[in-house]
Amino acid sequence: MAEFKAPLRDMRFVLTELFDYNDINQLPGCEDFTPDVVDAVLEEAAKVCEEVLFPINRSGDEEGCHWDDSVVTTPKGFKEAYKTFAEGGWTGIACDPAYGGQGAPKTLNALVEEMICSSNLSFGMYPGLSYGAYAALHSHASDELKDIYLPKIVEGTWSGTMCLTEPHCGTDLGIIRTKAEPRDDGSYAITGTKIFISAGEHDLTENIIHLVLAKLPDAPKGTKGISLFVVPKFMVNEDGSLGDRNSVKCGSIEHKMGIKASATCVMNFDGAIGWLVGEPHQGMPAMFTMMNQERLSVGIQGLGIGEAAYQGAAAYARDRLQGRALTGPKSPNKEADSLLVHPDVRRMLLTQRAYNEGTRAMGIWVARALDTMKHHNDAKAREEADEFVQLMTPIVKALFTDWGFETANLGVQVFGGHGYIREWGMEQYVRDARIAQIYEGTNGIQALDLVGRKMGAKAGRYLRRFFHPVQEYIETHVSDEGLGDFVQPLAKAFMRLQQATAEIAQRGMKNPDEAGAAATEYLRLFGLVAVGFMWVRMAEIALKKQDDDSDGFYKAKLVTARFYMERIMPQSGALFSSIMAGSKTMMAMDEDAF
Ligand SMILES: Cc1cc2nc3c(=O)[nH]c(=O)nc-3n(C[C@H](O)[C@H](O)[C@H](O)COP(=O)(O)OP(=O)(O)OC[C@H]3O[C@@H](n4cnc5c(N)ncnc54)[C@H](O)[C@@H]3O)c2cc1C
Repeated sequence: MAEFKAPLRDMRFVLTELFDYNDINQLPGCEDFTPDVVDAVLEEAAKVCEEVLFPINRSGDEEGCHWDDSVVTTPKGFKEAYKTFAEGGWTGIACDPAYGGQGAPKTLNALVEEMICSSNLSFGMYPGLSYGAYAALHSHASDELKDIYLPKIVEGTWSGTMCLTEPHCGTDLGIIRTKAEPRDDGSYAITGTKIFISAGEHDLTENIIHLVLAKLPDAPKGTKGISLFVVPKFMVNEDGSLGDRNSVKCGSIEHKMGIKASATCVMNFDGAIGWLVGEPHQGMPAMFTMMNQERLSVGIQGLGIGEAAYQGAAAYARDRLQGRALTGPKSPNKEADSLLVHPDVRRMLLTQRAYNEGTRAMGIWVARALDTMKHHNDAKAREEADEFVQLMTPIVKALFTDWGFETANLGVQVFGGHGYIREWGMEQYVRDARIAQIYEGTNGIQALDLVGRKMGAKAGRYLRRFFHPVQEYIETHVSDEGLGDFVQPLAKAFMRLQQATAEIAQRGMKNPDEAGAAATEYLRLFGLVAVGFMWVRMAEIALKKQDDDSDGFYKAKLVTARFYMERIMPQSGALFSSIMAGSKTMMAMDEDAF
C-alpha cells in the first residue's frame, strides 16, 4: 500500500522562496495569515490529510457509495472523517469571516486543497462542491438568503451542490429544460432532471443546498435565458431549524470509473421550492464569476493526484530490486539493483516530478493573482490581476488535469504489473484522475475558451499580462552565468508561442475552424512555456542557494529544472508544427466516414 506525506518542504519553497508571501500577507483582509500562521495551518492540514483522509481512500474506492430508495450512504469511515474535518474548521477555511469562515487567502487554500486531493479526491468532492455553492451564494444571493444558508455551509453542517448538467446537455447549457415557475409567495417551483450531480445526496450533513440552473417561463432562448436558484433538501424554518422535506430526490447514483466514494447523483426536482439567486436570466454570468476559483481547484485535483502517484512510484522504485544497472551492478551484494538505476525508470519519475513541482509553482502564481484581484486596494492592480487570472484559468484547468492523469499513468508504469492490480493503490489514481479532464468544462472546451475568448480579449491585453513579464525576464537573464542553460530553451519555446499566437489570430479570423483545430495544442504550448518560466525562476533560486544545501533540496531542484528544459520543453517544437498544420485535413473527412 502506497503512503502519502504532504510535500511541505516544496510548498514552503514556492510560498516564500519562489514568491514573496509577504505580498499576500499585507493585502487588506489577509493580515492575520502571517507566515507563522500559514505554516501552522499547513502542518495541521497535512496531519488531517495523512491521518484521517488518506487511510480511507482505498477502502472508499473499494466500497463506493450505496443508494437505497433515494437515500445515499457514503463508504465506511467517511461520516466520521467528515465530522473531524468540519469540526477542525476546514469547511470554512477560505470563507468570509462575516459568515463564520476564516478568510484564508487562496494562496494558502490552494495548497490545502492539493493535500486533500492527494489524500482522498472522493472525499474532497463534498467540501469542494459546498465551496462552489457557497461562492455562488456569497457573490449573488440577497443578504436574506446569505444569512439563511452561508453560516451552516461554512461550518459544514450543511453542504452544497452545483446542478447544471441534464441528460441531453452538458457543455451546451443553453438548451437546458429544467423549469422554474413563479409562486405567489415570491419563491419558485423547480421541475426537471439533473444528472451527474456530485454530492447531490449523501449522509454527511443535515441538509443539502442545491444551486440549480433553470429557465423562467419568459426566458429568452440559449444561455441568456438561464437563471440560478437555491433549492434546499429540507426547508428551513424562520428560526433556522429544519422543516419539511422539499420535493427533490435522488433517483439513482452512477456506477463509474473512479472517485467512487463521491456520490454522483441523478436529481429529480418535482416542483421543488427554490429562490432566485441574483437577477432573472443572469444564471450563467453568476456561475462564471465563481468559475475561476473552481477551475483552479479542479486543476489542483490533477496536481494532487500527480503528487500522490509520484510519491508511491518513487518509494516503490527505491525498494524494488530488478535487473542490473547498464553500467555494471550498483548493489553487488544484493540479488539485483533497485529500479532507480534504470534510465527509463528515472525518465518516468523525473517527468512526474517536473510536472508536479512545476504546476505547484504555477498554481500558486495564479492563486496569488486571485488574492490580489480580491483584496488589493488599488483598482489598477486588481484589474491587472483579474486579466491575468482570466487568461491563465483554462490553462491551469486543462494542463494540470492532463498532466495529473499522465503522472498517475506513469505511476502505474513504474510499478509494472503491480501497478495494474489494486493492492498498491496506483490504478485508483489513474481512474480518479480521469474525471478532472472532463468536468468543470472539458479540457477541449478550456482550449476553445483560451483561443476564442481570452486570446483576443481587450485587444490582446490579457495576453500581455503573461507575455510581458516572460519577455522581460528573458531579456534580463539570458546572459546570466549558469542560468543561460535554462533561459535559452524558454526563449525558444516562447518565440514559438508568440508566432503561434499571431498565426492563430490571423487564420482564425478568416476561418474559425482554424482556431478550433489549433486550440488544444496551443493550450499545451502555452502551458509548457508558463511552467517553463516557473522552472527557470526556480532554477535561479536553486543556483544561488546550492552551496547551502544540507538536505539536497536545491540540487534536486536544479536537476529537475534541467530535465524539464532538456526533455519536456522540446515538445514545443512538435506542438508548433501541429498548430501550423491547420484545420484542412481534420475537416476533410466526410461525416459519413466516421
Ligand atoms: C463524475 C462526474 C461528476 C460530475 N459532477 C457534476 C456536478 O456536480 N454538476 C454538474 O452540473 N455536472 C457535473 N458533471 C457533468 C460534467 O460537467 C459534464 O459531463 C461535462 O461538462 C461534459 O458534458 P457532457 O458529458 O454532456 O459532454 P458533451 O457536452 O456531450 O461533450 C462531449 C464531447 O464533445 C466535446 N464538445 C462538446 N461541445 C463542443 C463544442 N462546442 N466544441 C468542441 N467540442 C465540444 C466535449 O469537449 C466532449 O469531448 C459531472 C460529471 C461526472 C462524470
